[in-house]
Amino acid sequence: MAHDLHLYWRGPLSSCNYDCPYCPFAKRQSSRAELAADEAALARFVAWCADHRGHGQRLSLAFTPWGEAMIRPHYQAALIELSRLEWVAAVAIQTNLSGRLEWIADADPRRLALWTTYHPGEVALDDFLARCARLDAAGLRYSVGVVGLREHFDHIDELRARLAAGVYLWINAYKSSGPGYYRPGEAERLSAIDPLFDLNALRHPSSGQACAAGSRSLFVDGHGDVRRCHFVDSVRGNLYRDPLPALLGEQPCPQSSCGCFIGYVHLERLGLRQRFGDGLAARLPNWDPSSTTSAAASPTTGP
Ligand code: SF4
Ligand code: SF4
Repeated sequence: MAHDLHLYWRGPLSSCNYDCPYCPFAKRQSSRAELAADEAALARFVAWCADHRGHGQRLSLAFTPWGEAMIRPHYQAALIELSRLEWVAAVAIQTNLSGRLEWIADADPRRLALWTTYHPGEVALDDFLARCARLDAAGLRYSVGVVGLREHFDHIDELRARLAAGVYLWINAYKSSGPGYYRPGEAERLSAIDPLFDLNALRHPSSGQACAAGSRSLFVDGHGDVRRCHFVDSVRGNLYRDPLPALLGEQPCPQSSCGCFIGYVHLERLGLRQRFGDGLAARLPNWDPSSTTSAAASPTTGP
């Protein structure tokens, strides 16, 4: 079976309407010029994706903006357009879900899905859940995530209790203060909600390891420059200038470790891509979270 080509895209936009204390983009504003540059860059990427004759791929697309992009009309239009392309298996964006949602009625819910994050200090749970209910009513799939700070634990419990049972609730381990943040019993508490929490809580040794980033997944920036992933700086070429086969190739990971979901999900030894399938772009697992047990979701940990 042919595999999808998974593309992450991030343009010059670097701003957010929220003020999360754990984020460098909090309350940062984009200038008009920056927004115009972002819109032009996005249009160029969408045009490349729309040219199936040119790339010949079944695409899985994930937008990983610096900040909140889904509030911007040019992203909404891009998501609608991409969701309607038959060679797009999935298109997703990371979002705080704060913006207007009327536009999703124009997208194809078979392909568009959202990678949402709940930020307890920025929005009331009732309001966030009301937005999730609108996604449910529209038939749109989505994951919900929370940063696993200690002060969020009770919010996480309530969120799990009130979210639809089939919605995957992922928890990003708080790693900014270094290892050892969690006290005895806390990781177990979070793992009972997200069976993949343990995998997120550590930086995976990756030097010399096989990783699909580079061969089946690429990271594209606003200029079209292509890197194998967000974490390896060397540029392989340019999406708009170079033939796609010249940008793809298997290479062992040059980094000592990989600690972010959008990276380690591609590490071959973890076997995670198969557990997400077409849901990879929106962090949607292909098992039913309402019947999740650690055994059902347990990762392959051996090298
Ligand atoms: S919503 Fe996301 S991008 Fe915005 S400040 Fe919070 S963590 Fe940062
Ligand atoms: S393991 Fe992580 S850092 Fe290494 S190539 Fe894969 S995604 Fe990039």
